[in-house]
Amino acid sequence: MSKKGTLFVISGPSGVGKGTLKEVLLAELAGIKLSISVTTRKPRVGEVDGRDYFFVSEETFKELILEDKLLEWAKVYTNMYGTPRDFVLENLNQGQDILLEIDIQGALQIKKKMPDGVFIFISPPSIEELGLRLYSRGKDSQESINIRLAACKDELKYSKHYNYIVVNDNISEAVDKLKSIIVAERCKIEKLD
Ligand code: 5GP
Repeated sequence: MSKKGTLFVISGPSGVGKGTLKEVLLAELAGIKLSISVTTRKPRVGEVDGRDYFFVSEETFKELILEDKLLEWAKVYTNMYGTPRDFVLENLNQGQDILLEIDIQGALQIKKKMPDGVFIFISPPSIEELGLRLYSRGKDSQESINIRLAACKDELKYSKHYNYIVVNDNISEAVDKLKSIIVAERCKIEKLD
C-alpha cells in the first residue's frame, strides 16, 4: 500500500499574516497542495472563485454541513468558512501532502479528528505589533481592531494544542521555519516506512 500524505495545518489569530506566509511557502516548497476552503464571504477585488475560495451562499454552505461534506467549519467574525472533506481525504490517501490555512476553531476541530496532522501556530511578535499591523493595513475600524486584539490575547492561549509555534516577525525567516518543519516531518522514520 502506498504511504499516506501528511496534513499540515497553519493557523493563528486574525491579522497575523498567515495568508502571506502560505503564499510564499507554496511558491517556494514543492510537493504540497493547498486545500481551497468554502466561504459565504463575498469575493474581494481580485479574488477568483475556485482559486482563492469557493464562494457560496449561506444556503449552500448549510447544505454542505448537512451532507457532511466539510471536515471542519467555523464562523469567523460574520462569515462561515469550511474545509472540503473529500478533497483533503482523497489527496492524503494518494500520498499527497496537504496544507490548510484556517482559523483556530477549525484547527482544533481537525486536531480531534486527525491527530496525526502537523499543527503549526503562527503568532504575532506581540499584541502591540499586531495592533500596528492591523492599523496600517487600513482595512479595519479602530473598534474592529480593538475587538481583534482582545480576541488575539485569548487565542494565544490555544498555542499549547499545536505541535509548533512560528513567530511571524519577519516573513522570510518565518517561511524558512515553516519549510524546515515540513521537511523534517517528511524525514520522520515512520513516514519513510
Ligand atoms: P479571510 O476572509 O480574510 O480570507 O479569512 C478570514 C479567516 O478565516 C482567516 O483567519 C482564515 O485563516 C480563516 N479561514 C479560511 N478558510 C477557512 C476554513 O476553511 N476553515 C476555517 N475554520 N477558517 C478558515
